[in-house]
Amino acid sequence: MNKEKLYGKTLNELIAVSRRLGLPGFAARQIADWLYKKEISAIGEMTNLPKKTREIMAAEYEFGLTAPENAAVSVDGTKKYLYKVLNNKYIETAYIPEDDRATICVSSQSGCKMGCVFCMTGKQGFQGNLSSNEILNQFRSLPEFRKLTNMVYMGMGEPLDNLTEVMKSLEILTSEWGYGWSPTRITVSTVGLVSSIKDFLERSRCHLAVSLHSPFDDERQNLMPVQRTNTVNEVLNIIRNFDFNSQRRVSFEYILFEGMNDTPRHVKELARILNGIKCRINIIRFHEIPGSEFKSPGADETIRFKEALNAKGILTTVRSSRGVDIQAACGLLSTINQNKPAS
Ligand code: SF4
Repeated sequence: MNKEKLYGKTLNELIAVSRRLGLPGFAARQIADWLYKKEISAIGEMTNLPKKTREIMAAEYEFGLTAPENAAVSVDGTKKYLYKVLNNKYIETAYIPEDDRATICVSSQSGCKMGCVFCMTGKQGFQGNLSSNEILNQFRSLPEFRKLTNMVYMGMGEPLDNLTEVMKSLEILTSEWGYGWSPTRITVSTVGLVSSIKDFLERSRCHLAVSLHSPFDDERQNLMPVQRTNTVNEVLNIIRNFDFNSQRRVSFEYILFEGMNDTPRHVKELARILNGIKCRINIIRFHEIPGSEFKSPGADETIRFKEALNAKGILTTVRSSRGVDIQAACGLLSTINQNKPAS
């Protein structure tokens, strides 16, 4: 029988564990300290707990770290790791080193329900929500864990469709009893689930990124079926009426497709719908995926689009393409792996 995992539990959950095992009240903080501040990987190493206590705990729980099974390394230093989760499913985690920062891009679900037409993960369908343990294990078990400066929830899945476990992972990352990271080092990306976005904004202080991809409802709906039930207008209204502190950032992700969403008409409409929102747009040049009708725009067209938005007063950046040679587009590697016959 699988034992319950301690890693990934919040302080309140550890208090419940301590009570169940008959430990004193302060034991939960000691356990949190071992789990999140000291780099141990076994219950037996929690040496300020009595040996008998560790034995009782180990009979019911396991520490809960799992190493990645495979890695692909790009010539630009980007790495993509495959972790096994749920019932023999694979998820991807990207490590992206840059000049003065090192970012981990984590998955929050295996597969995804959102069905964005340009995304390999969307084509996999939905296989399950990751637990807080499985989300944070991607971070803690990353070979480059000690180098990390930033974290983005932009891997496989829609984080706000797994809000409970994502919020637990954010609590552990940002609490003083956990990793103590500043929330400004973390960005959560969403397609814009109206029922959860306000909850996320109120319960966390992490940055928000919304996948926009088109300012026009019909065009966005063709790209992102979620637009049918969660319109971008509703999302923008929530953002417009939320009181963001000066540290907190809202950005809009905009995948640029050649000849589709890169016209002056799009620039004008983007400026109209984002008017009054302090934000930035991150342009991502589309990475072509097998069987897709969409094409990547040229570098010159991308720069022209960026400059047109900047000229409208919208701070716009182009995200550099990383790991193209290792198929770093979301979902590609795990799809290939999931489709392999079992060995
Ligand atoms: S782009 Fe994100 S939300 Fe859309 S299908 Fe892919 S993983 Fe899901």
